Amino acid sequence: MNLPSPAQPVSTTCPYCGTGCGVDMHPMPEDGWKARGNPEHPANLGRLCSKGTHLGETLGLEKRLLKPWVRGQVTGWDTALEAAATGLRQTIDTYGPDSVAFYVSGQLLTEDYYVANKLMKGFIGSGNIDTNSRLCMSSSVVGHKRAFGTDTVPACYEDLELADLVILVGSNAAWCHPVLFQRIAQARKQRPKMRVVVIDPRKTATCELADLHIPLKPGSDSHLFLGLLSWLDQRGFADDDYLQYTRELEPALRQAHWQAPGIKAVAELCQLDKDTVETFYYWFATREKVVTCYSQGIHQTSSGSDKVNAILNCHLYTGKIGKPGCGPLSLTGQPNAMGGREVGALANQLAAHMDFTPEDIERVGRFWNSPGMARQPGLKAVELFEAVESGQVRALWIMATNPAVSLPDANRVRQALAHCPLVIVSETEALTDSSQYAHIRLPAAAWGEKDGTVTNSERRISRQRAFLPLPGEARPDWWIIAQVAQRMGYAGFDYDGPAAIFREHAALSCLDNPQGQRRDFHLGPLAAISDEDYDRLEPVQWPLNPRPRKRLFAEGGFFTPDGRGRFLPITPRPPARSTTEAWPFILNTGRIRDQWHTMSRTARSPKLSVHLPEPFLAIHPRDAAACGVWQDGLCQLESAWGHALLRVRLDEGQLPGQVFAPMHWNDQTASDARVDAVVSPDTDPDSGQPEFKFTPVRVTPWKPAWYGFLLSRRDLRANDAAYWVRIRREHCHQLELAGSEAQEDWSAFARKLLCSEDDGAQWSELFDSATGHYRAARFLDGRLESCIFIGPDRHLPEREWLARLFGKAKLDRNERLRILAGSPGGDAPDPGPVVCTCFGVGRNTLIQAIRERKLDSVQAIGKSLAAGTNCGSCIPELEALLEAHGQPDASDA
Ligand code: SF4
Repeated sequence: MNLPSPAQPVSTTCPYCGTGCGVDMHPMPEDGWKARGNPEHPANLGRLCSKGTHLGETLGLEKRLLKPWVRGQVTGWDTALEAAATGLRQTIDTYGPDSVAFYVSGQLLTEDYYVANKLMKGFIGSGNIDTNSRLCMSSSVVGHKRAFGTDTVPACYEDLELADLVILVGSNAAWCHPVLFQRIAQARKQRPKMRVVVIDPRKTATCELADLHIPLKPGSDSHLFLGLLSWLDQRGFADDDYLQYTRELEPALRQAHWQAPGIKAVAELCQLDKDTVETFYYWFATREKVVTCYSQGIHQTSSGSDKVNAILNCHLYTGKIGKPGCGPLSLTGQPNAMGGREVGALANQLAAHMDFTPEDIERVGRFWNSPGMARQPGLKAVELFEAVESGQVRALWIMATNPAVSLPDANRVRQALAHCPLVIVSETEALTDSSQYAHIRLPAAAWGEKDGTVTNSERRISRQRAFLPLPGEARPDWWIIAQVAQRMGYAGFDYDGPAAIFREHAALSCLDNPQGQRRDFHLGPLAAISDEDYDRLEPVQWPLNPRPRKRLFAEGGFFTPDGRGRFLPITPRPPARSTTEAWPFILNTGRIRDQWHTMSRTARSPKLSVHLPEPFLAIHPRDAAACGVWQDGLCQLESAWGHALLRVRLDEGQLPGQVFAPMHWNDQTASDARVDAVVSPDTDPDSGQPEFKFTPVRVTPWKPAWYGFLLSRRDLRANDAAYWVRIRREHCHQLELAGSEAQEDWSAFARKLLCSEDDGAQWSELFDSATGHYRAARFLDGRLESCIFIGPDRHLPEREWLARLFGKAKLDRNERLRILAGSPGGDAPDPGPVVCTCFGVGRNTLIQAIRERKLDSVQAIGKSLAAGTNCGSCIPELEALLEAHGQPDASDA
């Protein structure tokens, strides 16, 4: 691998969401790297959200897996690769090809993905490779294929700026695709006539931009879009010219009229008011340019595929597709979910957008010179782990993902892993919830250390480039897979680098596909790309036949046998489960602004860790009162499948009867917060995508005997506490705590926790026996070494000011005296929980400034405090604070 000279910035791609932002990594004069948005990259044009901005904080090697490891022993690559190859080979020889499986990830680069799929489907001869992207967008794949004949995203990001109406369905883009959200916000500012509709049961940060928020009943999206199709038809809004490119309209219309006959019926079915529904329909019909972005609120349901087609039907009917400013646009969750679709890493696809048809099997087998192609689809993610549990799959290779945290019914996944005879894990982390079950751990290169390509939600291929050397024994995933393949005796895996793999991948896309007429996925000229040109490859959109195309289907040209797009008659289905007396709430799960997946990267960043530092349950205040839980208290969340212990956040944006919990925390970062252990394993029958958005649950208060927190320069553990959460801070580590039994001697408890051996630190302690509050601070060489605060209730000091004291080389007398009081004193209030991650501006600081300096806009806040002026991810929260604490507008009086 040719690394650039350390003085040069390196252009690469963000490893988080499917927006696929270009990032320039700049070496810092002293040490480390700083991420800046690449102004030339078409996805982000220089912007980055908070996660991308703080990538430089995530590059450290602590807790990395840096050596191969076989059955408890650190070993060399030869031994580990031989063990993996022999284990797979013996399993196949004894139990057949379908007894092995790969579970891979949208974090892999396309080249890694390609080699893994080739090994499984082309050489092992099983379809058993599935990706965690199954959990994020497989319902869109089904919807696209049914309507267009191929898995094609017809629109591009530029359309968001050209649209008259942007509809965000089941998407909290402000937090989950923040740069796309900013592009929409900017366009709306420049074109005030543009409208934004947000369709989501929750009032999320995205609603700050909405001209119309539609808080529909969970699971009723199909009714809303069936109603739209019916309404468009009744009022004559068909695009008759466009309809000649389509077929099977009549059954779809009949079904729409039957299922959603008029505004009143739709309003009742979706629990909305009629005006809201009518306004939405009217805007859709009368705006020439409409983009519908949809994401996990649509995908992650047990009828996600049908919901996708209900949306596509409306765009086909009105011809709002393939033209500038028009089209359905599914937002993929992961950086390379789309790349996985290209290489066939979904169990029911072959490579290069081919299927398990006899012709495609022959074609791909011929290209790979395969000894025995898989002849039928393999197991989809949830089924795959059921097969591991039942013993049908006896050897499992997990790459770059953490299913013991992220799959639904995650406790069952753990049991399956614990009983699987051979678990191989390729990982960057020394220990994850999944790798603890591994017999073989293979150290994989991390972002920043590996080279390859990723494809974003608008079909744009971008290079990820290495700017760091491979640490320890870590190796790129493609290399690891190719080595195992060779040791299993397979030919065709002697790649000398990712460029060679990419050329093969591109060549396969062109096989028997002249000018991309047979299949949409066509990489044309890239099949002959040189190593040098691959190194320099600029972001490019496929199909490339021969030129890149931004949009598809403006004049039909679908990839169906007759070239016409298909309407699909939709019969709405309710969610797989319903609430009952025992399980009265609906649990919805998702992401938060500053964390990513199971936190292996983002939890390394102190700046990202403080926005929402603890796992929580968002609940409407009325429901909270009915359940007997309160703001900042702790609650037990339970379902028929599992439980979690979470901090309570009262949230008026939750519809009564629904609760929300983020999916990020795991057993390395919290005591009991794996929310996917609570989620039901129901899936969409067509796509296999799990229903993460609808699990019946109950919420009960969990009343600890004590609450507490500690801050320490050392990363401490408190596994004895019933509740703990580990939080990385800039100069210290934070541990939130609660326990079910009060201690006889708090001082002894604190000493055991803070210092296992005497390090000569000076102690300052305070115990108020009347209130039960205990506080202690330790000082070493004039610096604060650690402090702990314990009390019988949740009323403990705010953490921000205390945490900042760890950044000081020496404390002054006043600071030292104020520590046990837990606050800086009257004229210097605690800044409060961080809202603006980039400049560390806290909620209390913002509220005080809004009130005292009479700030009335986000720009005024920016001028005064700098908050919101860098990545912009906090702007929706600034808007909400202005609304809650700003001066009432005189015009409203
Ligand atoms: Fe990364 Fe943020 Fe861009 Fe997503 S929006 S790719 S997380 S910088």
